Amino acid sequence: MHKAKALIISCIDFRFQDYVFNWLKDNQYLGHCDLYSIAGCSRDLVKPLDATHKENFLRNVGISVKLHDPDEIIILDHQDCGGYAQDDTIPSMLEKEKDIDRHKEFAQKARTILSEIYPSLEIKTMYIGLDGEVQDLS
Ligand SMILES: [Zn+2]
Repeated sequence: MHKAKALIISCIDFRFQDYVFNWLKDNQYLGHCDLYSIAGCSRDLVKPLDATHKENFLRNVGISVKLHDPDEIIILDHQDCGGYAQDDTIPSMLEKEKDIDRHKEFAQKARTILSEIYPSLEIKTMYIGLDGEVQDLS
């Protein structure tokens, strides 16, 4: 088995690629992690528009865990996420502090869901601002 240090889950948004890859590099994950990019990141796990979205999210997590046995799962949500605010139930274009508050709520739910399925894995949730600042939401 090829063992991964972590499974990283991030949004598809190209604006954050440099920030994500720099963070992965700075924290010694680059080249040692599975990387799953999905529009809206934690949205499909916590508040999916359709049940199949959550199933697909968990299917990808399950494949990473089965094939690469990561020690931790790290979710990297970000500011101004259009994939996250795909419908009217989640407002878009919030001020950063309000945006962080709602991401904290989703982060807690995401940690709960993943911890129930994978109790031995450490689950971390992070937030990347438009300025590139990365905050721990745990
Ligand atoms: Zn996004």
